[in-house]
Amino acid sequence: MGASGRIEMTQQDIRPPARTAVPAPLTPAEPEQPSGRPLISYVLPVYNEQDGIAAFHAELTAALAERPELDFELVYVNDGSADGSLGILKDLAKNDERIRVVDFARNFGHQIAITAGLDIAQGDAVIVMDTDLQDPPRVSLELVDAWREGAEIVHARRRTRQDTAFKRATASLYYRVLRACAEVDIPLDTGDFRLIDRRVADELRKYRERSRFVRGIVASMGFRQAEVKFDRDERFAGETKYPLKKMAKLAIDGVTSFSTVPLRMITRLGFIVLVLSLIGILYALGMKIFRPDITVSGWTMLMVVVLFLGGTQMLSLGVLGTYIGRIYSEAQGRPLYLVREVIGGSRADD
Ligand code: UDP
Ligand code: MG
Repeated sequence: MGASGRIEMTQQDIRPPARTAVPAPLTPAEPEQPSGRPLISYVLPVYNEQDGIAAFHAELTAALAERPELDFELVYVNDGSADGSLGILKDLAKNDERIRVVDFARNFGHQIAITAGLDIAQGDAVIVMDTDLQDPPRVSLELVDAWREGAEIVHARRRTRQDTAFKRATASLYYRVLRACAEVDIPLDTGDFRLIDRRVADELRKYRERSRFVRGIVASMGFRQAEVKFDRDERFAGETKYPLKKMAKLAIDGVTSFSTVPLRMITRLGFIVLVLSLIGILYALGMKIFRPDITVSGWTMLMVVVLFLGGTQMLSLGVLGTYIGRIYSEAQGRPLYLVREVIGGSRADD
């Protein structure tokens, strides 16, 4: 790379982040792809998918065979399945050297499984997709095409989906609410099915917060983002591994990791309550002064005390909440900025 076109940056920029809270536990095995052909990694979380995983794998490899010019790596993350999924994955891995299986000690949840897969995937591009055939393997090739045309993040957006009416309705409402209150533009109707470029994957590995909402983090990163539309199929086998409780947790993580709106709402409520309290106090005092005949003795004092305490308490809670919000976002220790490339610098891999 030429030394011209230098980008001015602070001295901190190219050093490892000083306060990465938790380093990534997994690291890619080999750094370079000897063939020089693009390597595409698939990150495939598996949780109790024994009835569908073989069919998924067959369909995926059939799709991959259409692109002989590319190399592939399949990272299956077994998220503590309690059924025969692990055995099936191990058998598959015996016959196919492109497969790697990460086996979790227990169920850590979909978002963490994805994270572990991203930590060890070495590809020039990494695709995350579900293993229940709801994300059609063929569509992942379209993501690759968009990547080769220059996109760094390619979201697969559902045009239609075959889930239950309840799931469809709650998902659609949720994405709209999230978009309205989060300070990040999360594309509507996208799950975790997406492709990210190596650069983005490297940056994403620096986000080590616990309660993670990967799709929100990716959307918040910037880079050149593109979208591919697809029709979401029905689950091939088994039931959803996202019961309402897990879904609710993910939904709350989504809002709380990108928005302090709920906290700020307390402050706003505090102001409203305080204003109403003052009106109430004036009313109570007015009654005492102008209509002492119908004012029960002691009522004024009681009203004044109760309303004043209520109002100030609410406001104080809001103030506390605002500070907690700041502590929270600092404690997340997220990287403050992301660098795509340093031209002319002395970055080791240039
Ligand atoms: N999954 C996982 N760990 C979990 C729950 C789900 O790895 O704790 C995987 C699951 O095997 C599937 C993907 O995450 O490949 C999406 O889960 P699911 O299809 O059940 O979610 P839905 O499509 O119903 O939202
Ligand atoms: Mg599914």
